[in-house]
Amino acid sequence: MNRKPIFAANWKMNKGASETEDFIKSFLSKLQGQDFPCEIVIAPPFVSLPKLADLLHTATAVQNAHAIQIAAQNCSQFDSGAYTGEISVLMLREFFVHYVILGHSERRAIYGETDAIINAKIKKAREANLKPIFCIGETLAEREAGNLETVLRTQITGGLEGVSEKDLGETVIAYEPVWAIGTGVTASSEQAQEAHAFVRSVIADLYGADAAAKIRIQYGGSVKPGNAAELMACPDIDGALIGGAALEPQSFLEIIRNGS
Ligand code: PGA
Repeated sequence: MNRKPIFAANWKMNKGASETEDFIKSFLSKLQGQDFPCEIVIAPPFVSLPKLADLLHTATAVQNAHAIQIAAQNCSQFDSGAYTGEISVLMLREFFVHYVILGHSERRAIYGETDAIINAKIKKAREANLKPIFCIGETLAEREAGNLETVLRTQITGGLEGVSEKDLGETVIAYEPVWAIGTGVTASSEQAQEAHAFVRSVIADLYGADAAAKIRIQYGGSVKPGNAAELMACPDIDGALIGGAALEPQSFLEIIRNGS
C-alpha cells in the first residue's frame, strides 16, 4: 500500500504573525528546488493563520509554496453562537485551512477534552471538509500498567464513533505517546512500530483491512532530525507530527529530508 507520508509542524502556542512570516520566508527559500515525496503541513496558532495563508497563496510566493498545507490546532464542535473563545470550522475554511489537529494530549489533559468531545469535533471538521489529524496516545503510567492497547483502543473507538469509512479516508491518525511529547524522550522505533501496527489493527477491526491499509498513521513525540529516518523506516509509520523541532525552519526541513 502506497501511503504518502505527512510531516506536520505543530507550533502549539508559539509564533505570532511576524514570527510566522520569518519562519515561512526562511523555510520556503530552503525548500526551493527540492521536491520531497511527502505532504508538508504547518499548524500555527489561530491568529497566525491569515498571515500563513497570505504567504502561501499570494502570487509572490515561491514555486514550492503550494505544496504546504495549512492546519489549525483545534476547532469548535459547534457551528456558531455563544461559545466565547471558540473558532468554527467555517472560519478556518476562510483561511485555506485543510487539516485540523484534534485530540492532542495537551487538549485532553489541560482542557479536559474527552473522547466524546473529540468525536464531535472530528465530525464537525468533516462536515466542512477539513481533514482531522486525530491524536491518540498513552501516558507513561498507562504503558507501565500494561494498559497501552486498552487505552489506544478506547481512544480510537470513542473518537471515531459514527465516523463513516469515507470520512475515515480523509483522516490521519497521530500516535503520540504522552511521555515522549516535549520530553526529549522518543519512543524507540520498535515501540513506535508496535503501537502503530496495533492502531492499524484496531482500524481493521472497525473498518476492515482495506481502510486499515490506507490510513496514514503519524508518529509524534520528540521527533528530531537525528531520529526521523529510523522512525520513518518502520512499515506502519507514515510521517510525523512535530512540536519543538519544527519551530526552526532548518530542523523541520531536515526531519522532512531525513524521513522522506
Ligand atoms: P514534540 O511535540 O515534538 O515537541 O515532542 C509533538 C506534539 O506534541 O505534537
